[in-house]
Amino acid sequence: MTSVVERLQGDTPKFSVEFLPPRDAEDEKILWKAVRELEGLDPAFVSITYGAGGSRRDRTIRATGRIAQETTLLPVAHLTAVDHSVAELRNVIGWYAAIGVRNVLALRGDPPGDPMGEWVAHPEGLNYADELVRLVRELGDFCVGVAAFPYGHPRSADLDTDLKFLLRKLNAGADYAVAQLFHEPEPFLRLRDRVAAAGCSAAMLPGIMPMLSARGLAKIVELSGADLPVEISRRLEPYADDPAGFRATGIDIATEMCQRLLDEGVPALHFYTMNRSKATREVLGRLGLVARA
Ligand SMILES: Cc1cc2nc3c(=O)[nH]c(=O)nc-3n(C[C@H](O)[C@H](O)[C@H](O)COP(=O)(O)OP(=O)(O)OC[C@H]3O[C@@H](n4cnc5c(N)ncnc54)[C@H](O)[C@@H]3O)c2cc1C
Repeated sequence: MTSVVERLQGDTPKFSVEFLPPRDAEDEKILWKAVRELEGLDPAFVSITYGAGGSRRDRTIRATGRIAQETTLLPVAHLTAVDHSVAELRNVIGWYAAIGVRNVLALRGDPPGDPMGEWVAHPEGLNYADELVRLVRELGDFCVGVAAFPYGHPRSADLDTDLKFLLRKLNAGADYAVAQLFHEPEPFLRLRDRVAAAGCSAAMLPGIMPMLSARGLAKIVELSGADLPVEISRRLEPYADDPAGFRATGIDIATEMCQRLLDEGVPALHFYTMNRSKATREVLGRLGLVARA
């Protein structure tokens, strides 16, 4: 199976997409509609997040397997260390290998129940993502990605400490990093440049999620870990009671940011899709990366 690194090669800008494991049969239909709508646009890869526990994890594994076996897409399986012993992690990685999935995004994950709570590792498990990178690498010929945080991980003391641990997991054998959401290009570009200045050549992919509604915006702000810049609030404010105007402005803002990132030479744009394809297709169409939606 091709690797993410291979798919990112070449001068033309690429894009990738992230899906969530479906919660039920209705969700499954929504996911597969988005998968099929995006398949023809040839994303570099599609990644599927790893559920917080039990049945959600089985659904991640099932959806990843289906994408590997029933589509032309390149799946990237997310995996976290949450509540897993090393033996269990080995099993999941082995299962991915058995169905031909060779691309893994290695994450520590958040404490179950409270993402900002104190991290407690499984007694026979791993503490940090760099250990999972090493484990996946040990177990076979995998292409491994990790998470990066343009504003710093919420539990990091400062940006220097955050960079130190990002470099540690990249140097443990990761090939690329996918960034958490951010509002303006600069924090991402600064992080990318600091990684390169430290002598690390791993690809850094910006994470993009257009602001489509006031509710969606609140989630974006929460995930990013940073307040919305005044300029963006000012642009969205007139549309507080106008969903169509809000959405159109959100697509404008995302398109402008993506254009700047492409001008700065990012190898690919990674879209957080929430299992819907329309906004991703619109932004890609406006950028001229695919035929207009
Ligand atoms: C692109 C992306 C995809 C994601 N997908 C998922 C998913 O599928 N499922 C899910 O549950 N969550 C997912 N998350 C959320 C992620 O699991 C959390 O943000 C988690 O808190 C951090 O994971 P990490 O892999 O960055 O951890 P780590 O890199 O281990 O970092 C966690 C914290 O510990 C610090 N740290 C790292 N190493 C050390 C060390 N050696 N000593 C001391 N401190 C250290 C870091 O600075 C950071 O503050 C995703 C996040 C991103 C950005």
